[in-house]
Amino acid sequence: MVRLTSRVRIAELVEPDFFGGFLNQNVVVIERGPNGGLMLVDTGLPELFEQLEARLKSWGFSIEDVSDVVITHWHQDHAGNAERIRREAKAKVYAHELEVLRARKFNVPYEAIAEELKVPLEVVKRTMDRINKVTYEEPKELIRLRGGEDLAGFKVIHVPGHTEGHIALFDGETLIAGDAIRGIRGVYTPPLRLFSQDHERAISSFNRLMSLPYKFLIPFHGEVKTPW
Ligand SMILES: [Zn+2]
Ligand SMILES: [Zn+2]
Repeated sequence: MVRLTSRVRIAELVEPDFFGGFLNQNVVVIERGPNGGLMLVDTGLPELFEQLEARLKSWGFSIEDVSDVVITHWHQDHAGNAERIRREAKAKVYAHELEVLRARKFNVPYEAIAEELKVPLEVVKRTMDRINKVTYEEPKELIRLRGGEDLAGFKVIHVPGHTEGHIALFDGETLIAGDAIRGIRGVYTPPLRLFSQDHERAISSFNRLMSLPYKFLIPFHGEVKTPW
């Protein structure tokens, strides 16, 4: 739970037992969104909804204060609570026009994951079986983006590769990268090959984002990069 600027906070959620460790999820909370309330960028896994609620509450906010929800891509840990927040807070939900917000299974051979992540096969199986069972409600109303739009001072940048319609947001200071950049243990890398639709494009998108003149870099997973 950190406050980066007068408008931007990070609600850090924790997913337990992700390939034998834990994985954090940096939901970004921005004040004065396009419709006047809080603008969230991504929403966490459905099972972490109570964690998100608790983070907001610790700052004196509630789910009802959310007016805008930007989804970087369809993966369960990002879009998982979008429809629930839309319904409960009457919020607007935004996603790129190429992104279908519907939970799907990851069709990746477990052996390949075990090799790439260097974890035992049974650990891979446990995590993948769990992830592949996570479903979420599709947002019933969506505002479609193409890249280039301005959302309360944040420019939408289309950064395909991890998924086809992945987006990032940048206001000249804070770069919100979603899964286009991983920041595990403070090392900033492109998304994992096995979990990317087109890894070559993911690498170009990563390079493009890293070259921006940001002060704060917020990957969805891993550490937020600050000048201090
Ligand atoms: Zn993802
Ligand atoms: Zn993710």
